[in-house]
Amino acid sequence: MKVIEHIKQAKETIFSFEILPPLKGQNIRDIYNTIDPLMEFKPPFVNVTYHREEVVYKRLNNGLLEQKVVRKRPGTVGICAALQNRYKIDAVPHILCGGFSREDTENALIDLDFLGIENVLALRGDSIKGETYFVAEKNGHTFACDLVGQISDMNKGIYLDEELKNNTPTNFCIGVAGYPEKHFEAPSINNDVQNTLKKVQQGAEYIVTQLFFDNTRFFEYVEKCRQVGISVPIIPGIKPIATKRHLSLLPHRFHVDIPDELVKSVVNCRDNEQVREVGVEWAIQQCKELKEAGVPVLHFYSMGKVDNIQTIAKAVF
Ligand code: FAD
Repeated sequence: MKVIEHIKQAKETIFSFEILPPLKGQNIRDIYNTIDPLMEFKPPFVNVTYHREEVVYKRLNNGLLEQKVVRKRPGTVGICAALQNRYKIDAVPHILCGGFSREDTENALIDLDFLGIENVLALRGDSIKGETYFVAEKNGHTFACDLVGQISDMNKGIYLDEELKNNTPTNFCIGVAGYPEKHFEAPSINNDVQNTLKKVQQGAEYIVTQLFFDNTRFFEYVEKCRQVGISVPIIPGIKPIATKRHLSLLPHRFHVDIPDELVKSVVNCRDNEQVREVGVEWAIQQCKELKEAGVPVLHFYSMGKVDNIQTIAKAVF
């Protein structure tokens, strides 16, 4: 079933979360062990992230550097199929512009369609190491709105090969990303919101936001979206702080602010065990307020760890 249908049918806020495919060489049982404790909160859908190739450099005996392209976390499509089969819930694979030509995208979508996967989260992806800016694959998409456009075309039976006739339309529900604190490359929040509007105009049916720690930023963002005519559901993304290192890592990686009150509490913690308690408590208060405000879904970023999400979900759902 489509995410948008789950949202329409729900009588109260839905619990959902995202998982990362395991590192290459690990077992799918690691994923099941991650997910099992969260199933008591009845998530109707689970997102599975997609990870591009990375460029690593290996020093050779002669002192020269050898460039190697590696995929550390393959398997998004396989995991989605396995999750749907095992838990009878909907899987939402993330699909990227980065690393994909239009042809690759079409073929990936055909695979997903054949596997009975009806949802995708369409993203641009980040630049890879060594590139300052995002560079599209040859004959690939530069912005997520163009990827959304391709998926919407396939939903109308329009494939890349114009000579194909009587094509079966796919039936994907398309989600996209939104940034309450602005995407880091955008010149202004208003410009970024306009670009998000383009994704909706191309066929996106809901938005999942980047993680944030200050609900005011989320509420203001929703307001801005509504003002420009974005009427689709906007799902807040939640990530509890769990270590002192997160104070520098999360702003660096996700370009978000951490409120002073939270920073102070984390800094004053004796150890990471205490930080975890502070982070969980902050997220619980965030979630309670968001739920009270009637958000359709609370979407949790697991980053491979779920015990704190379990504690939060117990307090909120
Ligand atoms: P876009 O919507 O294309 O926006 C990128 C930038 O371009 C923005 O600054 C925007 O304002 C601008 N822009 C957009 N359209 C236009 C246009 N038509 N003209 C001019 N400027 C434009 N990354 C992964 O690699 N794997 C994942 O699984 C993954 N999952 C994510 C899940 C969520 C919920 C979120 C919020 C992010 C996720 N990301 C993931 C990160 C994401 O790929 C990056 O944030 C990326 O830099 C931007 O992706 P986007 O889809 O928002 O891009």
